[in-house]
Amino acid sequence: MKRVGFIGLGNMGGPMCGHLVRAGYEVSAFDVDPVALSRLRDAGARAAGSVADCAHGVEVLITMLPAPPHVEQVLLGEGAAIAALEPGSIAIDMSTSSTAVGARVLSAAGTRGVEVLDAPVAGQSIGAKAGTLAIYVGGSEAVFARARELFDVMGDPERIFHLGPNGAGYTVKLLLNLLWFIESVAVGEVLSLGVRAGVSLDRLHAALVGSPANSVFLERDVRMVLDDGDYDEAFPMRLVTKDLGLAVDLARDVGMPVELTTLVEQIHRRARAQYGDDAGEISAVRLYEDLAGVSLRLGRT
Ligand code: NAD
Repeated sequence: MKRVGFIGLGNMGGPMCGHLVRAGYEVSAFDVDPVALSRLRDAGARAAGSVADCAHGVEVLITMLPAPPHVEQVLLGEGAAIAALEPGSIAIDMSTSSTAVGARVLSAAGTRGVEVLDAPVAGQSIGAKAGTLAIYVGGSEAVFARARELFDVMGDPERIFHLGPNGAGYTVKLLLNLLWFIESVAVGEVLSLGVRAGVSLDRLHAALVGSPANSVFLERDVRMVLDDGDYDEAFPMRLVTKDLGLAVDLARDVGMPVELTTLVEQIHRRARAQYGDDAGEISAVRLYEDLAGVSLRLGRT
């Protein structure tokens, strides 16, 4: 495999595409943002003039776009990628998107003999830059095997998971984000309540980490807030609420009541309304700090 197209060169796609260029692939890249596009041109990619131009003649086309409407527009809209790809090529969507859009892409691709994988990622922009992303893949085993070399370049080979047929990658990615944001709300509420009740944060945190209630979020991830007051703007609330909305949609699609999920989604929508679209992904904790009138910082109590 030699020729790769890459559309969506933002916080995640920019560095991911850069790794493919450095690994020796002939990469054509496209983004509607000329600044993002020029960064990849400087890195050695061919700057395509349009989606269709980017897809023309490539063996694999990767998309890394904000949300399902962008994925649908780029892959299926006017002048779209699927129509420009050759039969036998592979379209891999690595965005956090929906199974509904994925199914429409699969159907359109099928009529043209184009293969499809969904392969969303975890690991933040730090993981994208380091080439250590976890990748969650849905699609046929044979197509996954053909694309594996590209995943190995962008991700941690130990954490590239083939999860089942098309859609399984999107589903697992939404579920892991959902669980993490449930924990963000739970930890924000519990720590703020404890400090408001008069317990030292240092002692409360240490006791909880050493208890059966410990979690990776409590022990590691929330430390960004507790140590530095950093709510992690690398993943903004506009994308957090998009992902949680997609989790609610998923539950509705399969007909399952998910009271906790909808509550957690609404709490994050409130945090976004309060702190802005670009506020950091741990803003739910900030919401609880403000509600309780406390500042959750270690070493101060
Ligand atoms: P981003 O907003 O930084 O980048 C998206 C890029 O897509 C932008 O450069 C934008 O100009 C481009 N774009 C939008 N519409 C386009 C179109 N029609 N044609 C061409 N380019 C277009 O977003 P990101 O942080 O890179 O996230 C991308 C995806 O990865 C999202 O689905 C997100 O949920 C997911 N994700 C992000 C993170 C993170 O930490 N940022 C982590 C895991 C997964």
